[in-house]
Amino acid sequence: MQNEKNTSKIARRDWLKKVSLGGLSALGAQSLHAQSDPFAGSDKVRGIIFMVSDGMSPGVLTMAQAFSQQIRGKGTRWWDLINDQKSARGLMDTASANSMVTDSAAASSAWGGGQRVNNGMINYTPSGKAIMPIAAMLQNKGRRIGLVTTATVTHATPAGFAAAVTDRNDEDSIAEQYLNRVDLILGGGSAFFDAKIRSDQKNLFEEYQKAGYQLVSQRDALLSSREGKILGIFSPSHIPYSIDRQQSAELQQKIPTLAEMAKAAVTRFLEGSAPFLLQIEGARIDHAAHLNDIAALLHEQLEFDDAIAQVLALTANHPDVLIVVTSDHGNSNPGLNGMGASYKNSSTFFQRIAKMKESHESLLERLQKNPQQDIGALVRKSLGFELEAKEILALTEMLSKSTAIEWNHQLAKPEGLLGQFAGNHTGVGWTGTTHTSDPTLVTAIGPQCERFSGMVINTDVFRHIAELLCS
Ligand SMILES: [Zn+2]
Repeated sequence: MQNEKNTSKIARRDWLKKVSLGGLSALGAQSLHAQSDPFAGSDKVRGIIFMVSDGMSPGVLTMAQAFSQQIRGKGTRWWDLINDQKSARGLMDTASANSMVTDSAAASSAWGGGQRVNNGMINYTPSGKAIMPIAAMLQNKGRRIGLVTTATVTHATPAGFAAAVTDRNDEDSIAEQYLNRVDLILGGGSAFFDAKIRSDQKNLFEEYQKAGYQLVSQRDALLSSREGKILGIFSPSHIPYSIDRQQSAELQQKIPTLAEMAKAAVTRFLEGSAPFLLQIEGARIDHAAHLNDIAALLHEQLEFDDAIAQVLALTANHPDVLIVVTSDHGNSNPGLNGMGASYKNSSTFFQRIAKMKESHESLLERLQKNPQQDIGALVRKSLGFELEAKEILALTEMLSKSTAIEWNHQLAKPEGLLGQFAGNHTGVGWTGTTHTSDPTLVTAIGPQCERFSGMVINTDVFRHIAELLCS
């Protein structure tokens, strides 16, 4: 039975390759596909939920599994999904047009526009030609599109599916391009919609409202909203780290979790029969990796994992929904090293991460605002470990930019040093403070999930979405 199924999947894949020969024409090939695909109907995809743990290096999977077991007494949903015989597993080749190491803009453009572009650009070719994003194609076909993220909603990963700009930082333009193209937008970044902050002083909130979008800015309002187009923005910039929200009743009351945003989105899209594409991003795993902050990173990864669990539960009785879980690139490649003789200290060192109660971002902001503070006391209270005198001296020098020796250029900044010193206590090391070239994990489940097995080129994602949803 299993073999028969595999044979038919392979035959189907070969057939799809043949009809795609001669240039993309994913859309041209699609009409042929719809007419003559011998497997059409049995594997029908009505919706795709594309989930991204931004900047998640492969080693994060193992550490998140151990961390989840430690603090929640159960493993992660992603781990179980990989172990599910019905799922497809693969690796994503993530390079951009101009580098082995991609940024999120080029990575998402490959997924959402089908072409590799230079880092920093969103859906613009290296020669300066705009590429139509998948959301515009789907909109022309009457499909529904949703973008959910813990970054600003106009950040690179959601934007790659629905916008084209020559500079990823042009979030003002991205906010305009979503209007009437994206049906559901949930995350942070009110600054890019606010007339008082935008450089052109346009009131985009008003324009979205006039176009029929429900506007929400509070968790309660999101949880009670049920249908229609929606723009939900819950913070001026990125949504604060989960590790910091856990210390603030006010933030917990105001800001929905990623799982709650995912639930609001999936519930909406499962109603009715319209085909849909929903992108859900745990964005701040990447930010925590840039800051070499293992506690913030693992809490964000568990937040993302809760969203996976929510999506799988809600779609359990919807066999026409394909779910893909992946990352756009690695970042700083954190990993638990062998600590002590025969590595006997590694497990106990790792357990110290659970004692950390503040993100490095928040802690370093406080330090930079008031450099006279007692760094040792601050780290003891927030991160639960004792800095050595020489470590305090090195951090003080780094904060005042008077460091005598840089052992590693990437790590020669306060966050790099703090990450290394924390690593002396947790056992977690980092290769740097930037993205890496490693392939990322891909796991998919649902109809046609076999398209995501083996080595997946990032631009293949676009082709699969176009073939499955544009017919
Ligand atoms: Zn990044």
